[in-house]
Amino acid sequence: MRHIIAALLMISALLPGSVSRTAAQESAQPTTGGTTVHVVQRDETLYRIALRYGTTIDAIAEANGIADPRYIAVGQRLLIPNAQFNAPGALITHQVMPGESVIRLAAAYQTTVDQIASANYITNPALIYAGQDLMISQGAAETADARILYRVQSGETLPTIAVKYNVRLNKLLTANNITLTTPVFPNQRLWIPRAAADSDATDLPLPLTSYAIAPIPAVQGQTISIHITTTGPATLSGTFMGYPVQFITQDGNQHFALFGIHAFAASGIFPMQITILEPDGTQTALTERVRVNDGGYGTETISLDTELNDLLNPQVTEPEWERVAMVMSAFTAQRYFDGLMGLPSTGAITSQFGTRRAYNEGTLDSFHSGTDFAGGPGSSVVAPAAGVVVLAEELPVRGNATIIDHGWGVVTGYWHQTEIYVNVGDVVTAGQIIGTVGSTGRSTGPHLHWEMWIGGVQVDPMQWVQQRFP
Ligand SMILES: [Zn+2]
Repeated sequence: MRHIIAALLMISALLPGSVSRTAAQESAQPTTGGTTVHVVQRDETLYRIALRYGTTIDAIAEANGIADPRYIAVGQRLLIPNAQFNAPGALITHQVMPGESVIRLAAAYQTTVDQIASANYITNPALIYAGQDLMISQGAAETADARILYRVQSGETLPTIAVKYNVRLNKLLTANNITLTTPVFPNQRLWIPRAAADSDATDLPLPLTSYAIAPIPAVQGQTISIHITTTGPATLSGTFMGYPVQFITQDGNQHFALFGIHAFAASGIFPMQITILEPDGTQTALTERVRVNDGGYGTETISLDTELNDLLNPQVTEPEWERVAMVMSAFTAQRYFDGLMGLPSTGAITSQFGTRRAYNEGTLDSFHSGTDFAGGPGSSVVAPAAGVVVLAEELPVRGNATIIDHGWGVVTGYWHQTEIYVNVGDVVTAGQIIGTVGSTGRSTGPHLHWEMWIGGVQVDPMQWVQQRFP
């Protein structure tokens, strides 16, 4: 039994569409006696809550002594009498993935475009975006076509498709008027009967067969990875937020890109433009709207004494910045990093990435471009991932500095060290000691400043300690 559950969890984790029932699960707690307690979430109305639990506004209002159903508060606990989970028409939350359209979502959830549009105040259904949370009334359309058209992908068989869509194999065969011995081939169209709620609702143009962005929504100052699969060999290029999206292609049809979102980038919805060039010259352009959230970074003021103040002089800082930016913007096709990154120091974190900074009562026009670790002078600086040393020298502002190129546009820097143990050209391994903590350069005390650039943009390196890329 445990194996079956584990297998099902694995299958659901592999499905491209992502259905979030976490909000419902977190906010709804069944109590003894058959009553459910619902904690009101942001943007919820009594109408939506009633729909979700298959009950009425009046029933909830009466059970909770609410005089005016227009006024409920976020965090308020509501008793839901006779709550029905997964009731027909119950509202669920679906997070939009790249390539999904309202039309396909309506088909997958057996509802209508109008229902999705009105429940989410959407005036133009073409303008949904990846990372958007849509309220969808599952099964609301009695007359909706209870099947979707599916494009077979490379390596798939009828049984694997049946498992993927949680449909019985014989229903899949009947829906397509075929037998188990009928050969299926990539790009063949198949009807999937009564698609499960978490089925693929994407509508990608050929030659794309999958398009994933993670994490989604994207966040200011963080890295996103893009993984696109095509039916055959292709070359991909793209742009997002004014920067190029640089792809690495493996096995001809697997395309990966890492993209850094600037800490000062605006939050909002931005078009990611991808162009796919096939060997015969066919070009396919695709624009996907992607949500970028605010990083919620704090502010701080740094006081530098008169001596260090000279290191705020642009004539000192600018040439060093240009040199460092050039080295940190390297793009090497070989990938050295593998899996999660380690920490470069065992010291406590004393300053996070992204904090808006003012120096000596100046304006908050800079931000902390890395993560600071406390550490006694002489404690080890460790390479968090494999790579090639591309800079190892003393700089006026950054002190004794080391820069490691990890490949695929991922470059990390280590500032203010006492000693540097590596030389330019050295190949370092994850966990290798590369230097010692110090207070050289523009520093107010012994610490290691760890910095990461992705495709020429400074990002939060700690994300890489917690999330596996690509
Ligand atoms: Zn720092």
